[in-house]
Amino acid sequence: MQNLFQYSDNNKRYHTLSYHNRSRGVKRVKAVLNAGLTCPNRDGSRGKGGCLYCSRGGSYFSGCGSLTEQLLTERERIHRKMPEASLVAYFQAGTNTYAPVSKLQQFWEEALACPDVEAMAIATRADCLPDDVCDALAQLANRIELTVELGLQTAWDSTAEIIGRGHTWDEFKSGYFKLKEWGIRCCVHLINGLPGETQQDMLGTARLLANLRPDAVKIHSLHVMENTELADWWRAGRYIPISREDYVSAVVGQLELLPPETVIERITGDADRSQLLAPLWSADKKKVLAAIDRRLVERNTWQGRLYRPESVQNKDSNV
Ligand code: SF4
Repeated sequence: MQNLFQYSDNNKRYHTLSYHNRSRGVKRVKAVLNAGLTCPNRDGSRGKGGCLYCSRGGSYFSGCGSLTEQLLTERERIHRKMPEASLVAYFQAGTNTYAPVSKLQQFWEEALACPDVEAMAIATRADCLPDDVCDALAQLANRIELTVELGLQTAWDSTAEIIGRGHTWDEFKSGYFKLKEWGIRCCVHLINGLPGETQQDMLGTARLLANLRPDAVKIHSLHVMENTELADWWRAGRYIPISREDYVSAVVGQLELLPPETVIERITGDADRSQLLAPLWSADKKKVLAAIDRRLVERNTWQGRLYRPESVQNKDSNV
């Protein structure tokens, strides 16, 4: 039977990362790394406390040892489950372009020298992309498949202010377009359930982002993690997490708005369960994914069904 959605070979109604890899004949798993970099939103250049949901320790992840040691440990873990998989060296913790370019290049060379590393993903902020770094990233992209992962989280400046994001939608777009001008593949991160945001706001973010035609997108719900300012808000009843029902509705609506060719690299979170305070439903990824699939079928819809590039130029237009 023919698949309903063009970027699927198993009746999924959105463009999954696994389909994207399968269709290119690659089997890759992310090896998560911590290069020990800080963030301008923590060290005082853009802000002091960091984003509302960011760990007071400075990052979600604390890898041990040198990058080579981290990569070899990750390689062993990955190969225990999938011996034939190659690795994506994923610089996840902190802001991974926030250092002198010579230091960044040392990190990249160390990762490139590790066996089975076939791709690289570098997580950063859109306001941390000076020309020399973009130039170096473009050179890196000539040597290995590279994705730069940019945190947007929301297109609404009022929400960005509440969460202490430290950059605006316009600043995000400047960084994003810079990467595109340098020909660099870009994956944009969104968070659903940010304080004060409605379904309309979350759909509005997806609609605005759709207009940029991102190569890839990651979506997850806002996690209340131990040792964050958000945890204080949650304990004080100042923040109510999004329900699974509302999260599923938001994601399905966002998928309908995003271009079909955009790869959906993730639609569930991957929080450290020992630190996750809420919402606890987000820890059951299989159930969330099944609910999203089910809702897409019930609504007889799919990624890109409502994608209208011409109609989303104006940020103030109704969602
Ligand atoms: S941009 Fe990332 S690393 Fe920096 S404060 Fe926000 S969540 Fe933390």
